[in-house]
Amino acid sequence: MSTSAKVAYEPLNEQTAITLAVKLNLFDRDAELHCREIGDGNLNLVFHVTEPATGHGTIIKQALPYVRVIGESWPLTLERARMESEALQIFARYAPEYVPVVHHTDEQYAITVMEDLSRLKIVRTGFAEGAVYPLLSTHIGEYLARTLYGTSDFALGAEARRELALQFHNPELCKITENFVFTYPLIDDESNAVETGLSELAQELWSDQKLLLEGAKLKQHFMTSAEALLHGDLHTGSIFASDEETKVIDPEFAFYGPIGYDIGLFIANTLLSALARQDDTRDELLRHVTNVWDVFTTRYTQLWQQDNQEYFAGVPGYLEYQLQHILKDTVGYAGSEMMRRVVGLAHAKDIEAITDDAKRLHIKSSAARLARDLIVNRTQYRDAQQIVRALEQADQGVEIGN
Ligand code: ADP
Ligand code: MG
Repeated sequence: MSTSAKVAYEPLNEQTAITLAVKLNLFDRDAELHCREIGDGNLNLVFHVTEPATGHGTIIKQALPYVRVIGESWPLTLERARMESEALQIFARYAPEYVPVVHHTDEQYAITVMEDLSRLKIVRTGFAEGAVYPLLSTHIGEYLARTLYGTSDFALGAEARRELALQFHNPELCKITENFVFTYPLIDDESNAVETGLSELAQELWSDQKLLLEGAKLKQHFMTSAEALLHGDLHTGSIFASDEETKVIDPEFAFYGPIGYDIGLFIANTLLSALARQDDTRDELLRHVTNVWDVFTTRYTQLWQQDNQEYFAGVPGYLEYQLQHILKDTVGYAGSEMMRRVVGLAHAKDIEAITDDAKRLHIKSSAARLARDLIVNRTQYRDAQQIVRALEQADQGVEIGN
């Protein structure tokens, strides 16, 4: 009989994080180091180890065997650390400029040691402070096209794609998305956080049979469609940026899913920040919505034409069909994401920060009406410009029509 030793796992603390950074030769043995736990996410520990004398730093991210903000009553697989570190390394093959360098991983300890990006700012925070990040959508469009095309059947061939998909069986994290993005926001679930002034609208949405049907279809497509290796949680809290640079972090929700999901999440969170903007920089955020789609389609088309394993790739109309299909998914998933940020558990920080009640409620109901249209009428959208027009109509209280 074999006795398997219990896997050693221990959460790090600021002292043991420093010891690990030194052991990995990331700093000189005699360097004077500081460490702070800076995790502001919901799930994991993030240690920032720095050497004040040189300004060098490193990041040690560690998964806990439970959800950080809830505690031990909500256990969650440590496997998510492996998902994150392996996804970061795969995305780096296709888009190295846009992901942090991984220095070291340890599966037992659920650790990823990576490049310190503290020179940049989390886009969600920057957007709430009024930043526009002029290159953001060009970089994200490139990142999306290269990682999503690169891990698709078209680039890899079916055999290699299926092999890679096995590595990213990620049921526990997918279940969180299935519940908190797709199911709970569309029903009267106790996890939803609906502010009082919005409860009538929420009741209306929850009894909207058309919305439930289209929401159900989007959820099923999310669960069954293994098109490419997705980031899986590409909201603006997963992007670091400056005016020159963009880096995508935190792909612990990575799995093989529909390409439009990643694009839709970026668009939805940008739309929410745009709605929260009261000054004339709103248009610059809306330009990110059209530009990310333009850059994505241009680069995707180039990659498709350069190197494609699919026998039928050159059949006239096939690429156009694929792009149309991705657009339809993008629109629908942008709707699902916007809806959950208004009536679900996790809200948009910049909208919540608006203290004028009437203004905040107006923005939230515009977002919910837009979200409904994106979900229900997703096949009517022909380009990203139409999404922007629908946002403007929703914001002006005009009936959204395509
Ligand atoms: P979680 O998985 O718990 O959501 P994140 O990966 O989003 O954790 O990280 C939480 C926070 O830690 C980020 O918002 C950011 O402030 C900080 N952080 C994460 N990775 C880095 C990094 N590579 N460089 C600098 N700060 C980071
Ligand atoms: Mg995370």
